[in-house]
Amino acid sequence: MSKTAQVEKHAFQTEVQQLLQLMVHSLYSHKEIFLRELISNSSDACDKLRFESLTDSSLQEDQEEPVITVSVDKKARTIIVSDNGIGMSRDEVVENIGTIARSGTRHFIDQMQGEQQDDANLIGQFGVGFYSVFMVSEHVTLTSRRAGAASDQGVQWESDGSGEYTLESSDLAQHGTTITLRLREDESEYLDDFRLRSIISKYSDHISIPIQMLKATEEEKDETPEWETINKGSALWARSKQEITEEEYNSFYTSIGYDPEPPFATIHNRVEGTLEYISLFFIPSRAPFDLWDRDHPHGVKLYVRRVFIADDTKHLLPSYLRFVKGVVDSADLPLNVSREFLQQNREIDKIRSGSVKKILGELKRIAEDDQEKYAKFWAEFGKVLKEGVIEDHDNRDSLAGLLRFSTTRSGSEQSVSLADYVGRMAENQKAIYFLTAESHEAAAASPHLEVFNKQNIEVLLLGDPVDEWLITHLTEYEEKSLKSIAKGAFDLNDIQEKEDKGEKKARKAQEKAFKSLLEKVKEILKEQVKDVALSRRLTDSPACLIADENDLGGNLQRILQATGQTAPESKPILELNPDHPLVSALESDLAELEDWAFVLYDQAALAEGATLTQPARYVQRINRLLSGNTGEVAKSGDESGD
Ligand code: ADP
Repeated sequence: MSKTAQVEKHAFQTEVQQLLQLMVHSLYSHKEIFLRELISNSSDACDKLRFESLTDSSLQEDQEEPVITVSVDKKARTIIVSDNGIGMSRDEVVENIGTIARSGTRHFIDQMQGEQQDDANLIGQFGVGFYSVFMVSEHVTLTSRRAGAASDQGVQWESDGSGEYTLESSDLAQHGTTITLRLREDESEYLDDFRLRSIISKYSDHISIPIQMLKATEEEKDETPEWETINKGSALWARSKQEITEEEYNSFYTSIGYDPEPPFATIHNRVEGTLEYISLFFIPSRAPFDLWDRDHPHGVKLYVRRVFIADDTKHLLPSYLRFVKGVVDSADLPLNVSREFLQQNREIDKIRSGSVKKILGELKRIAEDDQEKYAKFWAEFGKVLKEGVIEDHDNRDSLAGLLRFSTTRSGSEQSVSLADYVGRMAENQKAIYFLTAESHEAAAASPHLEVFNKQNIEVLLLGDPVDEWLITHLTEYEEKSLKSIAKGAFDLNDIQEKEDKGEKKARKAQEKAFKSLLEKVKEILKEQVKDVALSRRLTDSPACLIADENDLGGNLQRILQATGQTAPESKPILELNPDHPLVSALESDLAELEDWAFVLYDQAALAEGATLTQPARYVQRINRLLSGNTGEVAKSGDESGD
């Protein structure tokens, strides 16, 4: 082909030599990405030609449909990747392919010489993608002609990946670049047509320029070859919203989400400015079966300028949005950024925080516009969203607004927002009250609710285990603090009109009258409780247990124990209802006081959802009180019923 068959020999720069050493000898996993790198370079070259011909009229005659072809010559053991893009002049080849060690090379070598780095997936973030061909090739030929140049200004570059490459002139009819890889003996898998097609589909499906291969059946024949486009090329997300139909969105969702049901919500957004990216997110209609697997794959794929970079990228969205599927396509990131790189990349961080805001914003909109629809979302993903309140400090307020609870007014359905609750708080009510328990039912039946029900004060009933952590992070909503009704001292004045003088006097008198009884009971139960006090929150039950303000609540202690974690030792406070006949009839010199103290304590524990550590002791004491001692106390107990 070459008229002036003058072959020049060039030595690779030292760093490039090191790099090639690595490519040939050290990288074992994901070698297939060499094809992605070549296709991505070709795609860039086509984009560049289109772009440059906008301003350079001499290139316009060269404009034809851009195309990338991939073909295989099994006899010669070669793969040929060809494009009709911008191409390279001789100088450009020298500069781009082989002699100049760009800054990326050094970083790449350092990375690769660190531990465990046999992963070719790291290539490309360093701008060394082309060299990846030497992972699989023993010889590479690159021919290229710059668009706009004459046909005899083409160039041919060749190398076997050791220290040198050769350059010679070449007559090329077409502008663009062709790369011919002669595969190493042990890399025959890449001669397989099917294998190449699947690599293209996997990594380059959304490249907008057609990637063509010869139709399999035509390959062997001598007829005019028929080309077939492998990539779908429909980077749906890159099109403008107005042009995309719901069907198109849905079928795209199906293809990336493996979910036949249409998505619950589609969130498509283009960000322009200092940071440019497109995001297309889908919220599924149903929670996947593996939502609670620790290793649940994240469903957002990362692209850089339509080139697929990585899926299962945990850095693009926080874990509590792991159910979201979709695509982020960045215009700014380098191609093939590694996972390590993603972790500490400022652009990724910005994309992430922008994306979270978009998704939460859309959920808010749905919650406001269509409560019924939002309720469906909440039923599927509410629990996961609660993790967000715990993990994502920056978005805590918007997440708090998305929470839904069951309350003493709503029944078991979680349908009350904090805004609803605050909107109907009683005039004198100071805090947002909640009660955690093993389940909604357990909470709804708790004696702690008695005075709140009587005073018609709504209480959030939290029955999910995660709620315990939720409320340690969500201490406030719209300047109203959240307060457990089973913890700390309780002041009736916080929920009703201030007591008058007479009421106050009566209360003081009652406290005085019970003083010695309380001390006695405290002495009896000193192993079990921290304190014994008169209760202002009970109306029907004789007793309940309360956690001290800064101690762990009973429910949380039980959760921790059930999951095998050691909970810090803390004893509850026993509160007695002075107006209950069982309690009002107790005397501090009563012979059975010990039995009564234990029975009241055990009952309070049972009512809270605890299991008794010594059920036999409880039964014995009850039986003793019922049979032998039929004094005043037992009678009152009978009257009070159950
Ligand atoms: P990167 O693509 O990250 O810059 P590469 O090592 O893959 O790194 O490629 C180096 C350079 O060689 C490219 O930036 C581009 O200028 C040039 N190049 C590679 N392949 C082609 C091609 N098919 N057509 C035109 N130029 C190319």
